[in-house]
Amino acid sequence: MAIRNIVKKGDSVLEKKSRPVTEFNDRLHVLLDDMKETLAASGGVGLAGPQVGVLRRVVVVIETNVAEDEKEYFIELINPEIIFEEGEQTGPEGCLSFPGEYGIVTRPNRVKVRAQDRNGNTFEVEGEALTARCFCHEIDHLNGVLFPERAQRMLKPEELNNN
Ligand code: ZN
Repeated sequence: MAIRNIVKKGDSVLEKKSRPVTEFNDRLHVLLDDMKETLAASGGVGLAGPQVGVLRRVVVVIETNVAEDEKEYFIELINPEIIFEEGEQTGPEGCLSFPGEYGIVTRPNRVKVRAQDRNGNTFEVEGEALTARCFCHEIDHLNGVLFPERAQRMLKPEELNNN
């Protein structure tokens, strides 16, 4: 495994649409393992292919909604699609590609995603609260959509000190 460089804002790769994954091979598995290591080292909760310069529909999210005695875990999503959404949440959102920047973004409070795993098997997974926000944010990345486009407003520097 290796930590990859995270692409930062201004790089046009972040604005491009990613292509579906069609081959569930070792190369994909290395990419996923590297993305998990990169995400773990970053302190973030989600990472999408374009953020490591790979225009493929691959997302890694950390499920943080776990019971106190459970460990957080990675969810790997290949070719993910949101198939159900419910409710609404409005709050601060950031992105590993926009260090130090946050905006107020409204997202569904609960979503169901259909995706494939690293071996190509289709599955469904639900996310609530931060995890739902994260699924939406990362899937946006696959379509070249960045969170400032979704934000009602960006937070000012003096507001960030409170976070
Ligand atoms: Zn992001």
